[in-house]
Amino acid sequence: MSAAPKSPQFWIRPEIRALKAYHVPDPGDSIKLDAMENPYAWPAPLVDAWLEVLREVELNRYPDPGARALTERLREAMQVPAGAGIVLGNGSDELIQMLALSVAQPDRVILAPEPTFVMYRMIAEVAGMCYQGVPLAEDFSLDLDAMLRAIDLHQPAIVFLAYPNNPTGTLFGADAIETIIERAPGMVVVDEAYAPFTDATFMPRLAEYPNLLVLRTVSKMGLAGLRLGLLAGAPEWLEEIDKTRLPYNINVLTQASALFALEHKAMLDEQAGLIRAERSRLIEALSAFEGIRVYPSEANFVLFRVAEGTADAVFEALRARGVLIKNLNPAGGRMRDCLRVTVGTPDENARFLAALEAALAAD
Ligand SMILES: *Cc1c(COP(=O)(O)O)cnc(C)c1O
Repeated sequence: MSAAPKSPQFWIRPEIRALKAYHVPDPGDSIKLDAMENPYAWPAPLVDAWLEVLREVELNRYPDPGARALTERLREAMQVPAGAGIVLGNGSDELIQMLALSVAQPDRVILAPEPTFVMYRMIAEVAGMCYQGVPLAEDFSLDLDAMLRAIDLHQPAIVFLAYPNNPTGTLFGADAIETIIERAPGMVVVDEAYAPFTDATFMPRLAEYPNLLVLRTVSKMGLAGLRLGLLAGAPEWLEEIDKTRLPYNINVLTQASALFALEHKAMLDEQAGLIRAERSRLIEALSAFEGIRVYPSEANFVLFRVAEGTADAVFEALRARGVLIKNLNPAGGRMRDCLRVTVGTPDENARFLAALEAALAAD
């Protein structure tokens, strides 16, 4: 009440002022193993061929608002069932925002297990909705009873399930997800950002459930810089959600580059295969460290827990040795003492492991 007009305190909504901005650390010269990026660069001839494609792009023209060619290519590449509708987003983050904007009312709830992808909460709050987190079980599997109780109580407009989950790397049980889809009164969005690194998917099952939507992105498969995500589901939902989309959200460079990159999907799949193989090696090597608990992962990162109270020091010691990973300890709760490392190239992983060994010895 006391805030003066012409000030942000007067006009900016309290829920926005209460937010902490999404912070991305500057990697400097560090080996970057913090953001689930694909570590493999393209071979030079492929870069040349891509630049030739870009030569033809007309920057003076608006992009195709429906990105039709790209949508058709993505339908094929991501095996979207024939009857399903598709909406593209500027990253899947934008699709999460469009989903929230389509249902946002102050008393409405977005629900997700916790810990999970932080954007579900952040976007719910920006949209002026209530966010309900339901703690995962001790092993980071879904606590199905708690989920069902929370669904019955809060009647969420949307349930988000990251499959596999970030930041834990775990794959929730398909049975539990089915039960949630059947019980939920609203949409259940299965977020398959890590689809390239697991065989599990709900995509072929869209027709079984009228309230199921599947979210995909090209980010983790090796195209994070493009900002391109895809939401698939019943056309009745997607036609409504599409109305919240800004007309030209997929720019010409992204449309042309993604079309080109998807012609080389075999290379991206091969890289995903290398990352999966390295993930096994990394899990095995981490498990050999005394005092470290490693969680199983179906994604391109590995979550591990270090000795109580040492996570910040281990993280900083790694940074000092030129390796940037993600420190989840500041998030608190179940993430206390947890660190998350993205699977890199064999060389990067070896350097991470050597730095970790030195960091733990110095401790
Ligand atoms: C990384 C991530 C995303 C974000 O993908 P973008 O398409 O890059 O916006 C979405 N969901 C989960 C669970 C993620 O980990």
